[in-house]
Amino acid sequence: MKIAILSRNPSLYSTARLKEEAAGAGHEVEVIDYLKCYMNIATQSPSIYLGERELNDVDAVIPRIGASKTFFGTAVVRQFEMMGKYTINGSDAISRSRDKLRSLQLLSRKNIGLPVTTFAHDTKATGSLIRLCGGAPVVIKLLEGTQGVGVVLAESQKVAESIIEAFRGLDAHILVQSFVKEANGADIRCLVVGNKVVAAMKRQGEEGEFRSNLHRGGMAELVKISPAERSTALMATKVMGLSVAGVDLLRSHAGPVVMEVNSSPGLEGIEAATGMNVAGKIIQWVEANAHHGAKPTRGK
Ligand code: ADP
Repeated sequence: MKIAILSRNPSLYSTARLKEEAAGAGHEVEVIDYLKCYMNIATQSPSIYLGERELNDVDAVIPRIGASKTFFGTAVVRQFEMMGKYTINGSDAISRSRDKLRSLQLLSRKNIGLPVTTFAHDTKATGSLIRLCGGAPVVIKLLEGTQGVGVVLAESQKVAESIIEAFRGLDAHILVQSFVKEANGADIRCLVVGNKVVAAMKRQGEEGEFRSNLHRGGMAELVKISPAERSTALMATKVMGLSVAGVDLLRSHAGPVVMEVNSSPGLEGIEAATGMNVAGKIIQWVEANAHHGAKPTRGK
């Protein structure tokens, strides 16, 4: 089959691994810089081009859309959908997962464990938000942040109030969350492909750091997850309407709580920590599911 990997950079680890596994399984595979694609949104014959070439012979699309390119990237994925092409993650599901607030709202409705999470526009509500979270310490998050940037632990009510005011003064949107202290600066990344958690790792932040992001110096190791963690990761992926996802969980006293669901999970950290061939599992899922007219998983 002909597989298109939508990625800006063929030398990125995840892109290169997916390409390698697809080629190794005998597929024709091409890495396409989606920012260079253009589309004709024509009645009855939607089409997509790269240079002079029309991309009409693709059988399956693997989107790896960068967070800052979500708008155009999802439009390219959607255009392939309009052409009846199979995509491993659908454009709606990718957009949905890029909006942290919307994601948490959708997850909460399906009874998935979450930290107490509050949101307001007016800073007059600040005291109430902190109270709803059970008082300080609380975690304050910039909605637009990734890789732990704009995630702050406020130890006291006073500090929380001034951080919230400062962010709101910049017109930034923030979430205020209860601090899951018992997670001890660690989180669990579950890599979901279809209806399975194919690999899981525990990431531990540096000494004195409550954020476990690898970009912030965290260390990763293979972890055995509990049945509750497994089912939470699978359910969260399904609610988001994704087929491939990286689900981040914290181990709280009340059981697993979801931090976020990532639609383009990086493969380097998890393949290194677990020794699993995650890219190969993704290609196998494409093989089993990409047939003409196949629809990606729907969100709830
Ligand atoms: P990002 O999407 O930028 O990675 P996250 O919301 O995942 O931001 O937060 C980054 C890290 O900070 C998490 O992986 C986790 O280790 C830690 N963290 C985030 N929220 C909480 C919380 N409510 N309680 C405890 N630790 C948290």
